[in-house]
Amino acid sequence: MLMEEERKKIVAYGKQLKSSGLTNGTSGNLSILDRTKGLVAISPSGINYDEVKPEDVVITNLNGEIVDGHRKPSSELDLHLSIYQADAEAASIVHTHSMYCTVFASLHIPLQAVHYLIANTASDHVPVADYETYGSKELAVKVSQLMAENHAVLMANHGMICGGDSMEAAMNIAQTCEWIAELQWRCLCVGKPYILSEEQIDEVIEKFQSYGQKDADDKGSKGYTA
Ligand code: 13P
Ligand code: ZN
Repeated sequence: MLMEEERKKIVAYGKQLKSSGLTNGTSGNLSILDRTKGLVAISPSGINYDEVKPEDVVITNLNGEIVDGHRKPSSELDLHLSIYQADAEAASIVHTHSMYCTVFASLHIPLQAVHYLIANTASDHVPVADYETYGSKELAVKVSQLMAENHAVLMANHGMICGGDSMEAAMNIAQTCEWIAELQWRCLCVGKPYILSEEQIDEVIEKFQSYGQKDADDKGSKGYTA
């Protein structure tokens, strides 16, 4: 089976998306890019994550043409492909309608540095992309422009999308964003949260990178990205 490992990962992480409460029903989608082959494995459209099997995962090329698979690819295929084009480091993408991220996406309020862990997104904030219809080319353009600079973006009145150099990294960013969004919401319920400065977050990003580099040196491979 073409891209068997990646297909299995899409199935496993789709289940994780559901069990960790980052999605409900069939909302959200995931993909993995193999840059050397120029192929993408993406979740099928509208199938419950508990029911998706490796053969349901769709393989496309970078033009969005289906290379293998009998299902319809996610309606956000263009969005995923545009992000892979805009961000040369992205190798996996996770899109969710997780509750707290969607609250701020619907308020058109970015996630801010209410906690140093926002550095997991490689930025001191998670910006909001203007509203466009789901699955549209316009949405793909607006979101991918922001993803060239940020590892995570809120999609107005829709949800959150993030990318990483592995599915593990992308899922970690998705979980961090949801946690930051809930924290920001809780802080705003009580008062005005103190926002860490760009310099303070840059310092954390550098620290993550140097710890990650040490880990990678120990393992002899690229083990971690913030
Ligand atoms: P798909 O099931 O087609 O991936 O759509 C879910 C979604 O979240 C659209 O934005
Ligand atoms: Zn969506």
